[in-house]
Amino acid sequence: MKITFKSIYSSIIYILILLGCYFLIKNIPSFTPPILFVIEYSPYVIFGLGIILCIRFNQGRVFLIILLLILFDLILRYYSELSITVQTYSQILYPLMCLLIPLNIVIISHFKERGIFSLWGKIRILFILIELFVIYKIVISNHPTIHKLLNYQFVKLPIEKAFMNQTALLIYLITLLFFIIKAYVKKNAFEVRLAGVMISIFAALFFINDQLSFSIFLSAAGFMLIVGIIQDSYSMAYLDELTGIPSRRALRENLMKLGNRYVIAMIDIDFFKKFNDKYGHDVGDDVLKLVASQLIKVTGGGKAFRYGGEEFTILFPGKTIEDVIPHLENLREQVSKTGYTYTRKPSKSQTSKSKRGNTTSQLFVTISIGVCEKNSKFKDPQEVIKGADKALYRAKKKGRNCVSK
Ligand code: GH3
Ligand code: MG
Ligand code: MG
Repeated sequence: MKITFKSIYSSIIYILILLGCYFLIKNIPSFTPPILFVIEYSPYVIFGLGIILCIRFNQGRVFLIILLLILFDLILRYYSELSITVQTYSQILYPLMCLLIPLNIVIISHFKERGIFSLWGKIRILFILIELFVIYKIVISNHPTIHKLLNYQFVKLPIEKAFMNQTALLIYLITLLFFIIKAYVKKNAFEVRLAGVMISIFAALFFINDQLSFSIFLSAAGFMLIVGIIQDSYSMAYLDELTGIPSRRALRENLMKLGNRYVIAMIDIDFFKKFNDKYGHDVGDDVLKLVASQLIKVTGGGKAFRYGGEEFTILFPGKTIEDVIPHLENLREQVSKTGYTYTRKPSKSQTSKSKRGNTTSQLFVTISIGVCEKNSKFKDPQEVIKGADKALYRAKKKGRNCVSK
């Protein structure tokens, strides 16, 4: 598990939100009644905004989490309106909520994104509504066995009564750990976000008897989800879906920001069509991702973009060709040395004849690079790109796996 600057950076916004909550709670005594009123009902404003954004960007999974939180919040706040007694609330309703919130979030996080109002989306919404109906029925049945099950003690703790029953506490900690590990192993922003959401909800449930603190942490959970929707829509616009590196649109915006001196390199994977034909399109996609992950590490002040297909562009603002060639040579060499581990599965006839398992081998690809700088001949970014394309063509003619001016 590698904790990189990037992974810490991606969690920083959530840490800041949590610190903001701490600051707000500390300052509650100094707030005027209108501010306290706003804080108390802030979750609904934030969840409402979240719902609008989810519909706008068709984010089914986040929609379900927000829906879940709204419904849980309403039940926990207004349980007495549902003819639930204080005793039933503390012995059954609250422990059940503590248990079901993390479980539901884990389940929703495993759903594939299928939008909100598609058939799948509607089935999922129905599932949550049915679940709440079942919870309601369980709660009003007020059965002693359910009470016993929910408040079962695995270990005797010195504390008289913890705020959360042990099963829920255990599930909470396991699910939180699950999201944190998944976030750092898979480097997945969705899981980092959910880890933040889980911490906020945990804190909200901890402060269940303090309406304002409860609202603050619940709002924090909603706010984290909104930040996530905005981050996702940014990624959708500016990051290439397959490789995760900046896309052609990001390139276009960066081209507009270039000054009077810059270099553009066009990069193309060699014989990639043959590679696809031999190993299949999926392996081709994986290799494209691998090459992109190398190109993004370009040194010398370069910034890499996927231009389209198996072609990439690197911009070097403020540089000359002489400055960048050594860095491009390094990059070219690095790509040629980085192998992709290919696992060949035995065909059906092979498996029946012999018990040979999978065989693995290392696959290598090379890249050709064309470079061009802004000068009196190539006056604007479009011309420099054309110049780099011509240089790329020369690199291909020279025999590929080289850099050409
Ligand atoms: P050259 O060395 O001259 O560049 O040969 P080439 O085969 O790489 O060039 P060509 O432009 O003829 O072929 C590009 C191939 O790249 C075609 C297509 O199969 C493959 N390709 C383009 N985009 C993708 C993609 O997103 N995924 C995969 N797997 N393959 C792609
Ligand atoms: Mg090409
Ligand atoms: Mg090619």
